[in-house]
This record gives sequence, structure tokens and C-alpha cells, in this order.
Amino acid sequence: MKEYLEKIPEELRGLINKVRSIAAQENLRGYLVGGFVRDLILGVKNLDLDIVVEGDGIKFAESLGQQLKAKVIAHKQFGTATLSLRPSLKIDFSGARSEYYPKPAHLPVVRPGSLREDLFRRDFTINAMAIDLSDGKLIDYFGGASDLRNKIIRVLHDLSFIDDPTRILRAVRFEQRYSLSIERQTLSLLKSALRNKMLEQVHPHRTRDELILILKEENVVKEIERLHKLSGLDFISAKLKINTRTRVFLKTIKKEIDWFNQRNPGRRPLDTWLVYLIGLFDPLGIREIKSICAKFGLRKGEEKRLLSYKQFKLSWVKELSAVTIKPSRIFALLEPLSYETILVLRSKHNNKRFKRNLADFLEIYNGLRIYVGGEDLHCLGILPGPGYKEIFTQVLNAKLNGKVKNKEEELELIRKLIKNRS
Ligand code: ATP
Repeated sequence: MKEYLEKIPEELRGLINKVRSIAAQENLRGYLVGGFVRDLILGVKNLDLDIVVEGDGIKFAESLGQQLKAKVIAHKQFGTATLSLRPSLKIDFSGARSEYYPKPAHLPVVRPGSLREDLFRRDFTINAMAIDLSDGKLIDYFGGASDLRNKIIRVLHDLSFIDDPTRILRAVRFEQRYSLSIERQTLSLLKSALRNKMLEQVHPHRTRDELILILKEENVVKEIERLHKLSGLDFISAKLKINTRTRVFLKTIKKEIDWFNQRNPGRRPLDTWLVYLIGLFDPLGIREIKSICAKFGLRKGEEKRLLSYKQFKLSWVKELSAVTIKPSRIFALLEPLSYETILVLRSKHNNKRFKRNLADFLEIYNGLRIYVGGEDLHCLGILPGPGYKEIFTQVLNAKLNGKVKNKEEELELIRKLIKNRS
């Protein structure tokens, strides 16, 4: 094992040795490439392995999949395959290829190529290095390691942002993530691409994917500020502005996300990017949000969460800010909302009681379950039907308001409800 292979995290070593031995058996040259190599040099943990093979990447992935008894998903039209081992561990395989862009901002035409060509088609020098799996040597044709040392982001050629303008968003993302700076010539190419409105020419789904990656970064506020300064946010909507209020709002959202993650570890993971997006879209109207969702192809569930924030009435905020509101009412108002929406509401309205009530919903009311079930109603002689839901809601409301505490009290309440009905 040579210099760079020795830096590989302990948990990946066995796997990489397996990859190396299969490459040797099949007489193929395999290389670790891209972000994994960049992060290895930086000493940043990264478990997403990206392997380029001079030859058939899919065949290679399938041989490894067989040996490891792991699932391989192949994309024949792209010559790529992904092998998933654990939820957090995956390896992407591809055959080395070269690309050319017949039309600016459109997808490239791809054909098999050499490793050098494969590295040349990449976004920045820092992402265009490889480690040869046979001897562990770093292959760095374009000066990526020295750019990393000098904390610089540099494109590989002058047409880079014209070929693929999403690299503008990627430049901002890596610049802010690693505190790098965009090299002078690269910055001038980037600005020229922006002046020529290149970002608007990319298919919106590709812009969306890169924007989501930005919103998933650790320091979203920094990223968005930089993006706003460089390009503005007109490519999303001309009505989006970043001012002091937005900055404070986004920072508050970050605090709310941290609060949620600390206090509610057992819940489903948050879509943090969507929490920020809901906040970012605060100045927009419902029609504008719907049209952005359509243009960028956001999913129905994502659109619903964005809209539910805008549709939350001020009179409900007032109700939720009152000391006297009953837990059952808090539940009724907040239960239709997602965690993402609730966190942005908590960020927006600074009233202490409002925030407390929303916290109580998340921490207490939302997890409450009643003891009685369909079987119990059946035993009480109630025939299955829509009436069941009504009864369960009344029992839950009573439980939320502290009126019933155990199964016996719940059954007692149901008997009373039946009696009043008849
Ligand atoms: P991250 O740590 O955010 O996952 P990454 O560098 O691994 O960063 P990916 O988007 O997974 O980013 O891409 C993997 C590699 O593919 C990059 O390192 C880069 O070499 C190449 N790449 C990705 N997107 C582009 C692009 N738009 N143009 C050129 N090369 C790209």
C-alpha cells in the first residue's frame, strides 16, 4: 500500500483491497477519482467511492458485486454502475470516457476514452485527480493538488462554464465549503458566462439538483450570500432578494434545524434543504411558488410543504400565540403540516408562546397515541365505518387536553359518546 492508499479511512480499506484484487485478476486498470481523491488529500471524511476503469466499468462492478454479494444497479446507456453496500456506503463505477458538447449548456456526447480524457472532462482541477489502484500513486495532470494547497478553484479550459453552466453553482459550493477562492481567470470566465445568461439555458432540472446540493451544505447562509453576490438569484425568480432580513431569517432557520436535530433525534431525518428553500421563498406569492415548482420539477410533496407555509393564516399564528389555546387545537392546526414547515414558522414568528406551542406539538402532542383501537369499538357494539375516525379523534382530543389518562377512561368516554348519540 502506497502513500495515498494508506490515507484511506480504516472502514474502506478491506473494500478497496478487494477492488484492487479484482482489477488485477481481470487485468483492468482502476482508479479512484473525483471528490473522494480531493477529500483524501484534504483529510476530509468521504465514503462515496468513485472508480473509473479503463475498460468496461459495468462488468467490473458486477464482478465485485458478485464477490461481495452486493446489489449493483447498472445504467447501460451511460456505461456506469452503482454498488450499494450499506445505506451510507456506495461505489460508483464508470468506464473512462471523453465528452464533447455539441451545444452549449446541453448534455455532452460521450464515448470511451483514456483516463486523461476522463479527467479532462471534469469541472475543476481539484476534482480532476485520480489514484491508481495498482500502485496507490496520485495522477494529477492538471495541477489539482497544488491548487488545493493554494486554496484555489480553477476550471480545466476556457469553455468550461459555457459547456456546462451548472459548474457556476458547483464553483460556489466548493469555494464556500472548503474556504477556497475562485482563481482570477476562472472568475472572469464565470462572470462572462453569467453575463451571457448561460445559467438560464440549462435544463431547470439540472439547475435544481445543483441548487439543492448548495442548500444541503453545512453553511447555507454563506453559500447563498455568495451565490447572490455573484449571480443574483434571478435564475430562480426575479423576485428573490437577499437583504439583511433574509440573512437573519436564514440564520434563525439554521438554529431551528439544530434545535430540532438535538431535541428530536428519533424522528425521520429532516429535508434540511427544503427548510431553507421554504425560508428563501418567504417573499414570494403562492402563484410564483407554484410556477417555480412546475419549472424546476419539484415533487408534489415538496410543493405541498412550500405552499403550506404560505397558506398558514395569520389568525392561526395569533391563536397559537395565546396562553389559553387548548392542546387539541394546537394539534389540529399543526398536524397537517410537515416538520420542515413548522420549523420555518418557528423561525418567522418570534413570540415566545407561539414557539413553545409549536415545540410542544413536536415534542409531546405529535407522539401521543390512544390506547383504544378498532377491536375495542367493535366489542362496544359499534359497527366499522366513518364513525370510528370521529370517535378516535374525540378520544385523542380528550387525551391531549388531559381529560383521559388510561384505557379505562378512554372506554368510559366512548360509552358516554355513544349514549349521547342515541
Ligand atoms: P461532493 O463531496 O459534494 O459529493 P463530488 O466532487 O464528489 O462532491 P459529485 O457531484 O458527486 O461531486 O461528482 C463527482 C465528480 O464528478 C466530481 O468530483 C467531478 O470530477 C465530476 N463532476 C460532477 N459534476 C460535474 C460537472 N457538472 N462537470 C464536470 N465534472 C463533474
